[in-house]
Amino acid sequence: SFMEVLKAIAKQDFASHGNVAIRADQKSYSYMQIISSAQKISNLLCGSNVKAGNLGGARIGIVAKPSAEFVAAVLGTWLSGGVAVPLAVSYPEVELLYVMNNSDTSAILSTEDHSELMQNIANKTSSQFFHLPPVANKSLEKSRDEHSQNGKIDADGILLEKFERSSQDPALILYTSGTTGKPKGVVHTHGSIIAQVEFLPKFSVGGIWKRWRESYPTEGSKADDATTVFTGVPTMYARLIQGYRAMDPELQAVSASAARNLRLMMCGSSALPQPVMQEWEAITGHRLLERYGMTEFVMALSNPLKGERKAGTVGKPLPGVQVKILADEEHGNEINEAGELCVKSPSLFKEYWKLPEVTKESFTEEGFFKTGDAVTTDKDGYYIILGRTSADIIKAGGYKLSALEIESVIIEHPAVSECCVLGLPHKEYGEIVGAIIVPEADVKRKRDEESKPALSIEELSTWAKDKLAPYKIPTRLILWDSLPRNAMGKVSKKELKKILASEQ
Ligand code: ATP
Ligand code: MG
Repeated sequence: SFMEVLKAIAKQDFASHGNVAIRADQKSYSYMQIISSAQKISNLLCGSNVKAGNLGGARIGIVAKPSAEFVAAVLGTWLSGGVAVPLAVSYPEVELLYVMNNSDTSAILSTEDHSELMQNIANKTSSQFFHLPPVANKSLEKSRDEHSQNGKIDADGILLEKFERSSQDPALILYTSGTTGKPKGVVHTHGSIIAQVEFLPKFSVGGIWKRWRESYPTEGSKADDATTVFTGVPTMYARLIQGYRAMDPELQAVSASAARNLRLMMCGSSALPQPVMQEWEAITGHRLLERYGMTEFVMALSNPLKGERKAGTVGKPLPGVQVKILADEEHGNEINEAGELCVKSPSLFKEYWKLPEVTKESFTEEGFFKTGDAVTTDKDGYYIILGRTSADIIKAGGYKLSALEIESVIIEHPAVSECCVLGLPHKEYGEIVGAIIVPEADVKRKRDEESKPALSIEELSTWAKDKLAPYKIPTRLILWDSLPRNAMGKVSKKELKKILASEQ
């Protein structure tokens, strides 16, 4: 896979340069093809007369879908001595500009398909703009021949010489989702990349279902470049379900049977609502494997591949990951045994870009990273995410409540399609439990006809009586047509609180 290639390249442990490194868009690329392309990119960045490796940590923005070109661009950036900053074109222009200004990129590498947009943005930030050339894709036979004729290819020697970099050197800046504020630049080193790499795939509902159908066209047949593993965020699965519901029965049958053939489907990045998990299992037979990760260390907790995948939990620490729950006196009360999750792992980032104070505050004396997420464990040692200490822990009249726990109950109500629970300021109690609800379209239509709201606070509290403790039941209900989500499908509760405060 894509990640394996980056790892192999970072470690320089490819068996033979003629071997296939990447299969993408139904083509195969050898390590040699990727490396020579990287060499060209490095020359582009350094200027042909300047020695490779001279960029001295300059930031290079990279815009390309997951492809051979993307891998070559990252490697080329490293060869030139630069730090790669992958940019997602799905981000709105203001966000792209923010990230580029914040990381102070000196150049942008972009594939043809995004060059117009990126050239524009490059001008606005006075970065140099370069086209990413397609990676040459001669037949593998031919490239193997060349390889044996030249003995060790030129690129090989240059690569090994220039690629001397300490595992502590910055290699990649990944930006956080910006759920709690402006996105933060998370600096990963060559060392933490070897431990793991993650990138953001482009997402389209129709495209994904189509890809799976092409991977497994008929019962028992599998394409050469079939997708075998899929990982997505909860909103992706919710939208894939909507897409599935909208298909005609024949297409549904083919799509579901194709999806069934994948080896593994994973989910992470925000809490997976149980109805989504259940419906996905009903359609595809896949019990989603939920994990917990952060840009800062990529992945730390995971449900097992083999063994029980427990709904509502994110499993246990992955091999090599040390975790600690920092007990918080303040949490007491409702959230017993809970505290802030702290993580130590080989994949841990080095620092926040240009935020030395934030970096310092984020680590314990023993070098554990403080995630800012409150967690607890169940009787079997599976971790349960209670939410962000800053936004998901509601402090209502002496109780500390987990918004995620309340959300997981409310989402089961038949009239509820999406929901977001948050603490709203209150003079007497400090905070009260508020719920923003997006009603199911059918229910809304029917109730509109009766000139009634899709759901009332009385109906909700009566329904919730035997499901939630009285002090956890929302006392304010707000109906919306949709929830504002960022590019990762997450809801910023801080923003919502601001909006609600201004509406008061
Ligand atoms: P920012 O740091 O800019 O505010 P962000 O924290 O959303 O944005 P990411 O690094 O993409 O940026 O997300 C990490 C966060 O996502 C975690 O701290 C956690 O709150 C949440 N998260 C990740 N996986 C899960 C999960 N399986 N269940 C619940 N929450 C999760
Ligand atoms: Mg974060």
